[in-house]
Amino acid sequence: MDHRSTLLKSYLKNIPSHHDVIVVGGGIAGAGVFRDLSLHGLGTLLIDKKDFTSQTSQSSSKMLHGGIRYLENLDFALVWEALHEKNLWLKIAPHLSYPEKFYLPVYKDGLRPLWMVRLGLFLYDALSSFQNLPSGQASPKETLKVIPYLKEKGLTGSGIYSDAVMDDAKITLECIYDALLEKKSYACNYTALIKATRKAHGYTLTLQDEMSGLTREITCDQLVFATGPFTDKLLKEINLFPWKPKLKLSRGSHLWFSNDMLKVKNPMVLTPKDGRVIFVIPQKDKTLVGTTEVKGEAEFDQVPDQEEIEYLYKNLKDFFPKADIDPRHLLGKFAGVRPLVMEEGAESLGKVARNHKVYQPQENAYVLLGGKYTTFRVMAQDVVKPLMNKRGLPYLGHLSTQALRSPSIIKPWHKPIIDKETLIQIIQREIPKTEEDLIQRRLGILKDVLEGEELQLIKETLQQTLLEAP
Ligand SMILES: Cc1cc2nc3c(=O)[nH]c(=O)nc-3n(C[C@H](O)[C@H](O)[C@H](O)COP(=O)(O)OP(=O)(O)OC[C@H]3O[C@@H](n4cnc5c(N)ncnc54)[C@H](O)[C@@H]3O)c2cc1C
Repeated sequence: MDHRSTLLKSYLKNIPSHHDVIVVGGGIAGAGVFRDLSLHGLGTLLIDKKDFTSQTSQSSSKMLHGGIRYLENLDFALVWEALHEKNLWLKIAPHLSYPEKFYLPVYKDGLRPLWMVRLGLFLYDALSSFQNLPSGQASPKETLKVIPYLKEKGLTGSGIYSDAVMDDAKITLECIYDALLEKKSYACNYTALIKATRKAHGYTLTLQDEMSGLTREITCDQLVFATGPFTDKLLKEINLFPWKPKLKLSRGSHLWFSNDMLKVKNPMVLTPKDGRVIFVIPQKDKTLVGTTEVKGEAEFDQVPDQEEIEYLYKNLKDFFPKADIDPRHLLGKFAGVRPLVMEEGAESLGKVARNHKVYQPQENAYVLLGGKYTTFRVMAQDVVKPLMNKRGLPYLGHLSTQALRSPSIIKPWHKPIIDKETLIQIIQREIPKTEEDLIQRRLGILKDVLEGEELQLIKETLQQTLLEAP
């Protein structure tokens, strides 16, 4: 497809006034639904009030994983599903994810002994139908080879298991680019749903271009809400159907450090005595440290608060007494809010299940809530199946297991190329609308590290190319 026509498909002013389905929310949940519907040939519009994947779906711990800690909650079905999805995406999107051996250090006075950890890891392998690289264990000496600054006192060894590291923003974006290859698919970022009314057959939505202020009424037969943590608030505001709040929001924060601070070779899981879990995940040039679980609010553009940052520093100091834990190694930070579905009796946010739920509050409206990044494809299926059914069309499960056909120009974990020609291509094909979209999510560069000529070139090229946009 001509690149300029992709850009054309991303402006509210250019799109058709009727679509088979409109998907509201362009995080991973909405992107998954949009892709599956598009692959089924339905005329589908995806909208997001901000840039695609700019909220929770770029703020995860960046793991495709079964969820080792959910074994404790006896969530075997969820772990099974997530492990199978992880292994599927490793096969079909190897440029966006890679398998890693995760270390789980065990201490004498820790929450569980090594034999119990080993047993859990065997169960984890079994739940992957033994598709995971086999789990194992390491002695204290072997552990310290991989994690040299780790606290030695009381260390009895480590459990080792297999999960995957991924680029969360790129997976969401590539699902959207893949869907946009279909003729009848459109995706507008910076386009908010501000009003919705039911009509005889379907809905009339008032959409607003957040950059120009332009509003348009667009109609559709069926409507999908994939607005993650913002769902309860949005549904209350638009008041389209009766809706009782269903979300329990849990905020997690992460810090990026330069690799030489901890010198960790493999990802690892720290289990402080308070029962929380902290991941330390080295990537190519930087190490990710997170997460915390505190009560969250449905606000856009979250940042970690001081208390969460201090909690992470404190635990790093406890677990890495020999390392120079210092803010001068800090490269960046981010926070996101998990859209967990409320459950009676869950004692803590960490214990609330990660299962997803699909609600159908009206005949042609679907609301997708909860879940995990890793399981987005099956979450989408659970919306698209009944929706296709309603249209009297067959659901084809194999479509979403096909490889993504439109890879990002700048691949994850690669040094970005910053020249005018490449930037123009990215702007036309990958539809960033602001500098931040281009720098953070399309080029994959942390905010604030760019300056001088490169930053100037990015600003100018973006302005010019968008001015010339159709
Ligand atoms: C700290 C943390 C770590 C995590 N780590 C992992 C992990 O390692 N692995 C894993 O599998 N899962 C992980 N998760 C879970 C996973 O990240 C989330 O389940 C997932 O990203 C949620 O995606 P979403 O599309 O539902 O929400 P979002 O990504 O928040 O998308 C919702 C979108 O709706 C848009 N929107 C809101 N209102 C409107 C409106 N009026 N009009 C148009 N658009 C609107 C927003 O702009 C937003 O882009 C983590 C979650 C958190 C918080």
